[in-house]
Amino acid sequence: MLQIYDTKSRDLAVISTKTPVKIYACGPTVYRDVHLGNLRSFLLPDLLRTALSSAGIDSFVVQNITDVGHMVDDTGIESVDPNQDKMLQQAAAEKVSALDIARKYESKYLADLSALNVQLPDQTPRASETINEMIAVIEKLIYLDFAYQGDDGSVFFSAQKFPSYGAISGNTLDQLKPGHRFEGEIDSNKRFHGDWALWKISDQRRTQLTWDTPWGQGFPGWHIECTAMSLSAFGDQIDIHTGGIDLRFPHHENERAQSNCVSGKEVVNAWVHAEHLLFEGRKMSKSTNNVVLLSDVVSAGISPAAVRLVFLENHYRSQLNLTWETLVAAEQTIRRWSDLVDGAKAINQELKSKISAQLLNNLNTADAVISIRSAEKELAKSPSARADVIATGTDLLKINLAIEPVAISEDAKRLVQARDQARLERDWQQSDSLRDQLISMGYEVNDASSGTMLRRAILPPKI
Ligand code: AMP
Ligand code: ZN
Repeated sequence: MLQIYDTKSRDLAVISTKTPVKIYACGPTVYRDVHLGNLRSFLLPDLLRTALSSAGIDSFVVQNITDVGHMVDDTGIESVDPNQDKMLQQAAAEKVSALDIARKYESKYLADLSALNVQLPDQTPRASETINEMIAVIEKLIYLDFAYQGDDGSVFFSAQKFPSYGAISGNTLDQLKPGHRFEGEIDSNKRFHGDWALWKISDQRRTQLTWDTPWGQGFPGWHIECTAMSLSAFGDQIDIHTGGIDLRFPHHENERAQSNCVSGKEVVNAWVHAEHLLFEGRKMSKSTNNVVLLSDVVSAGISPAAVRLVFLENHYRSQLNLTWETLVAAEQTIRRWSDLVDGAKAINQELKSKISAQLLNNLNTADAVISIRSAEKELAKSPSARADVIATGTDLLKINLAIEPVAISEDAKRLVQARDQARLERDWQQSDSLRDQLISMGYEVNDASSGTMLRRAILPPKI
């Protein structure tokens, strides 16, 4: 049985073992590469899956791909300028169509997930392809009197009709003053400053990503897509809804209001949020100018498995302050474990049960990694038992120990041969000098029983 912290009740929620467990994960806005901070949040559904499957429980994950409606001010759709849509801005910058941008960054995103050994979501609906479902939800919200049309035809959700607004984040409507960041630019079509657009009427300036609807030509709000997609996929009952901590408000408050009002019930059982990733002390974000991509890490000779290990070593509800030192140390652990686990290993049942219990206890991945490390130390005298615990633990946590082979140049191959010969002849001075030459060529040099082994050197941009 999985217990998970629910932001709304501020308590652990018990997830029913009725399978499959239904998980909806807020997905990326596909207008640029995701960074390690985004990836930390996007790892959350995979961790839930990992925990559940360790207990033999199936899950079904749906994650949306936002390719329309996410406005630059980040608070929804309050901005009046229709080209403030993140997709349209990037399309103009790269001089291609908005949907070309969407497909490009969507496939890069999915490749990053795979590199982190994340099981891809069972469904990844795209906002631009779910417009009919959004229209149906908006029509029903208007019919039920939870939504209204403004003077320009745009449709707004009437926040005051949902009395428990604010339950997730604590930002209740009486605290939201006009001019709060929440509001963005004041839209005179709204009746109340806390209302938000479900459908925004566009003008001729917006030439892409618009659709004809009963209310006129326009585009959807960011929040309505998640309601439409999650209800379409799961009906009116979702076990777990995930996202980064900053999505609590307004995105998840608005989504909960829409979904509950259209369904007439509390749709989501547990709202689960991942804390932020900091990099060298500041939140990783484009505006802070400290974005690190997975490809940057790989270029530094650090494997995606090391990134996964660092994420797991820090509980998802704590801020994680990442540095290059931490990444290098994790890569060294991966390499050490990879050397120890060579070939098929037996499952260590004791460790398996321990880690499963830790995962089911609010995804205590940090303790799970400690369990591997202490089992490794305890069994230091028995190499094969040590290999078993590392194989068992890394397998359960989906830490891939298969280190990518490095391309070795002809020059390097010659130096390796010469070095192996020098070692046979016990010419240590020559062997050391050849090792130094290989290191200066960018390789990490190891002595295996079969001779000199080369790997990619770990070369972080700065330490
Ligand atoms: P965005 O691309 O800004 O919409 O963010 C996509 C997801 O990444 C959201 O769930 C955010 O909460 C999450 N996110 C953004 N920055 C960070 C960060 N530094 N650490 C963790 N999650 C983040
Ligand atoms: Zn969402």
